[in-house]
Amino acid sequence: MRSRAVRLVAPVLVLAVTALAALAPSSAARPSNPMPPARPQVGASGIGDPYWPLDGNGGLDVRHYDIAVRYDFDTGRLTGTTTLRVRPTADLSRFGLDLLLPVSTVTVDGRPATFDKPARHELRITPQEPLVRGTDVDVVVGYAGDPSRISYAGESRWLVGADEVVTVGQPHMAPWWFAANDHPRDKATFDITVTGPASYQAVSNGLPVQRTLTGAEATTHWRSAHPMTTYSAFFALGRYDVEQTSRAGLASYTAVSRSLPSSERSRAATSLRRTGAITAWLETRLGPYPFESTGGLVTSQRVGYALENQTRPVYPGPPARGLLVHELAHQWFGDSVSLQRWRDIWLNEGFATFMEVAYAERHGGPSAQQWLRGARDDQVGSRWFWRVDLTDPGAGRIFDPAVYQRGAMTLQALRHRIGERRFWRLLRTWTHDRRHGTGSTWAFRTLAERISGQQLDDFFSTWLREPRPPAPTRSNGLH
Ligand SMILES: [Zn+2]
Repeated sequence: MRSRAVRLVAPVLVLAVTALAALAPSSAARPSNPMPPARPQVGASGIGDPYWPLDGNGGLDVRHYDIAVRYDFDTGRLTGTTTLRVRPTADLSRFGLDLLLPVSTVTVDGRPATFDKPARHELRITPQEPLVRGTDVDVVVGYAGDPSRISYAGESRWLVGADEVVTVGQPHMAPWWFAANDHPRDKATFDITVTGPASYQAVSNGLPVQRTLTGAEATTHWRSAHPMTTYSAFFALGRYDVEQTSRAGLASYTAVSRSLPSSERSRAATSLRRTGAITAWLETRLGPYPFESTGGLVTSQRVGYALENQTRPVYPGPPARGLLVHELAHQWFGDSVSLQRWRDIWLNEGFATFMEVAYAERHGGPSAQQWLRGARDDQVGSRWFWRVDLTDPGAGRIFDPAVYQRGAMTLQALRHRIGERRFWRLLRTWTHDRRHGTGSTWAFRTLAERISGQQLDDFFSTWLREPRPPAPTRSNGLH
């Protein structure tokens, strides 16, 4: 994510070529007639992240989501069915999902299940027979309601105008429109099908599969073949100028809202055409692009931030080059390598911000080391900036500017300390080894120590945690 207010590097010039692509998912095996478990548990109402204790749920690994939604602009009503392929990680007599809308039906493997909503965000499901650890089940949830009337954790996420709706938000967005195990630790593949007026387009993650016209309505099916976090799943429904291209096997799909003023529309389209070249440059630094498609969407909705929705970032207005670099870098950092815990958010934002600095360095901007020294000098007298502990900023501070900037400074300091060759090998190994998985600060430090052959606990503690500016020393990467 990046808010409109944050801008770290001046826009610069670019050139380049293309990218690579991807693979098909493997489908899960489903043994039939398992033995009923002797002592099934009640699944916890949260996955165990103290920042938002109700996020996610205990005992579940969602393998796949098949979401079908219809949105009615006249009534503001969203009607949906989410089918989840769930692999239980424990024997469960009861389990939970996260969904804010009222629920009408729940089935588990085709049989009606008992359900209730003990809290607005929680859907509690009791299947007729306990779930068996390791044996996949299909859970189908039917629901409907007006998402614009609902808030959770201080967030009101529903962005809708007279002729466009877009579901874009972090850390939470899923429970406004689908039943989810809503935590970045549990990633899954997705099919997303959206029904709306026939004169509108529906845009989502991955690749378009099919568009079907039925009277005055159109139903559009999108597929994401690679694991995705729940907050990164999105759809946008409205009138768009769409461009579809393909270069070196990587499909690109961009969309610009026709509700924007015409001058903004053409600037937005021009800007989005840089997506392929920037992605190609990022590949030279970070290794192969992790997904089957790329692109972007510029919305007319007053989002106030851009978000790195997997394969298709959403931008509020024509994106500047630095913002494109930021959201596209998130495809590696945040989307492919996702957070184990929200407290590690600098692994997303610090890394995406660092790639802006690294891009600028190669495209006419200052060297990243000059930028680092300048950024440190700018902040040296600031007390709040150094008070944010990047390994545990707190739920209310995950998007604090210090998470972005101090995170990026940490990486440049590390680069200066361990050297160019080892540093980029570190980032490429990180994105390769954890591709489509998750990571933590501890795991990154461990890998940095292995690749550099250096003891780095003091370095990381100084840069990420100490409530004061790092001393301008060689070991802090400043000399
Ligand atoms: Zn970001």
